[in-house]
Amino acid sequence: ASFGFKTVKEEEKEDLVKNVFDSVATSYDLMNDATSFGVHRLWKDEFVSSLNPGKKGPMKCIDVAGGTGDIALRILDHAREKFADRETTVEVVDINGQMLGEGYKRFKKTMYHNTPQVSFHEANAQALPEAHFQDNTYDLYTIAFGIRNCTSIPSVLEEAYRVLKPGGTFACLEFSKVNNPLMSMLYDQYSFSVIPLLGTILAGDRDSYQYLVESIRKFPPQPEFAKMIRDAGFTTGKDEDGGAWVDLWGGIACIHKGSLP
Ligand code: SAM
Repeated sequence: ASFGFKTVKEEEKEDLVKNVFDSVATSYDLMNDATSFGVHRLWKDEFVSSLNPGKKGPMKCIDVAGGTGDIALRILDHAREKFADRETTVEVVDINGQMLGEGYKRFKKTMYHNTPQVSFHEANAQALPEAHFQDNTYDLYTIAFGIRNCTSIPSVLEEAYRVLKPGGTFACLEFSKVNNPLMSMLYDQYSFSVIPLLGTILAGDRDSYQYLVESIRKFPPQPEFAKMIRDAGFTTGKDEDGGAWVDLWGGIACIHKGSLP
């Protein structure tokens, strides 16, 4: 990856990821519900509640790897319902136009459609075009179930650091490492056999779901990822105090946060 060129492997991974999400775009929301029994909704609710958007006044947010807009919609709803805030904005960014297209269609049915509160942008999390995504711009950067699909996590974090304002927050929701060995074994059984099977039945696409399961296994465990966040320049709470991350369902998913000094 040196000299600014992508290695063949990186290019292959980006193409692969793009194909995976092209093929799952229309079935993505249904599959999310089916594979997690709807639990991803609870995790996303908890993620956004923990950020409490709107509390300190309207925020400028960027939701990267935002896909069909699940997080963006929750941010805007939370700010409006809790704080009567109709000025918070979210820019949804994704590398995949088809996922964004599904998000756009979905927002058409909401009160945010055709308002400055939401916009959609096709871009790579690892290299956000500087002409639009300028330095020191956002109060909140979110990335949910997206960073593990990126070839270079440090590049994503570097970009998050660049576009956030001083005092801004980086927040990531991602599948993580299950702590309890018994639960970990059951979860492995479930994800390696049931999820690809559901992928075949509901979406006619076993390989894409197999890839998604494998990408979860390869993602760094909680302390390692927290260190990567700090290495990028963010401040986190202490690992041992639960300040750097919060496990959901024993670590099946996890919320990591960092703030810009
Ligand atoms: N955040 C949404 C959610 O929680 O429902 C979507 C998550 S989906 C599992 C992962 C998303 O990451 C896909 O929409 C995919 O296109 C996007 N993605 C993968 N690699 C990316 C990259 N390098 N830059 C931006 N988005 C990327």
